[in-house]
Amino acid sequence: MSTRARRYDAHVLRRDVLSPHLLRLTLGDGLVDFESTGIPDEWVGLIVPGQFQSRYYTVRSWDGRELVLDVVVHEVGLVTEWASRDCVGDQVTVTEPRGSFAMPGDAEWVLLVGDLTAMPAMARIAETTLAGADPVATRIWAEVPDNLTGYLPEGPDVTWLEPPGPGQSGLAAVVESIDWPSGEGYFWMAGESAQMRAIRKHLMRDRRLPSTAYDVMGYWRGASRRQPRAVDPGPIWRAGKAAGKSDEQIWAEYDEARDG
Ligand SMILES: Cc1cc2nc3c(=O)[nH]c(=O)nc-3n(C[C@H](O)[C@H](O)[C@H](O)COP(=O)(O)OP(=O)(O)OC[C@H]3O[C@@H](n4cnc5c(N)ncnc54)[C@H](O)[C@@H]3O)c2cc1C
Repeated sequence: MSTRARRYDAHVLRRDVLSPHLLRLTLGDGLVDFESTGIPDEWVGLIVPGQFQSRYYTVRSWDGRELVLDVVVHEVGLVTEWASRDCVGDQVTVTEPRGSFAMPGDAEWVLLVGDLTAMPAMARIAETTLAGADPVATRIWAEVPDNLTGYLPEGPDVTWLEPPGPGQSGLAAVVESIDWPSGEGYFWMAGESAQMRAIRKHLMRDRRLPSTAYDVMGYWRGASRRQPRAVDPGPIWRAGKAAGKSDEQIWAEYDEARDG
């Protein structure tokens, strides 16, 4: 049996510019079987036309018909370049969602720290922690290059920070200077991978937090370039499409070429 995550073909219904570095893509038309995990930082893999490689994007919202992804525009990048153009009407593939946020039921507070790529998850997490009769006190540190007033829901205590430079992050130092609340709580953070490694060490060694009290995820890699694939999927995909093959057939051939 295949262990590959389930995939859904969808179309870009709308593309809205939220800020100079953030685009909102609304996908639909093909997602009838899509099911949310309900975990507020859930993400999908997104495969854009002509590509095999996926990039991960947080499900900003899913209403049973339309899936909203908020996409950061970098200097270069596979999804960046595609999304920077008019992509409305394009067919994309998304993988089934997965989530990681696991706040204990007795948490009295939650701390959320992240850069622009983490904003969709922080917004959705805050929507859930602040909902209901018994909201959980929510603090957010957001390191973003744009003015995103109004992007986060009303309620959390938000500290806006400017990135130290393009493609840089100072979040490790920010976390070390946090005045930690007392009582039971949960810490969630996402951003550049090298910063996240430093923060995990800090939480384990200095704060001595059990692993159930935090979730720290590397969302992107700054310094090192991606390793080129041993077999470039692009030509295989194009040749397969030109020959009228299905995505499943093309994937099988790609796996064979890579493993062979
Ligand atoms: C679980 C998860 C959820 C995520 N959710 C979101 C989301 O909701 N929205 C979102 O925009 N991103 C999100 N990301 C991050 C996103 O997957 C990466 O930033 C991805 O690399 C962007 O793809 P790209 O094709 O534009 O650039 P790539 O082709 O992957 O990278 C091209 C170049 O850009 C650089 N680069 C990549 N990301 C950044 C960055 N953030 N800042 C500066 N330089 C960068 C790389 O180092 C590389 O040199 C998430 C990642 C994970 C793991």
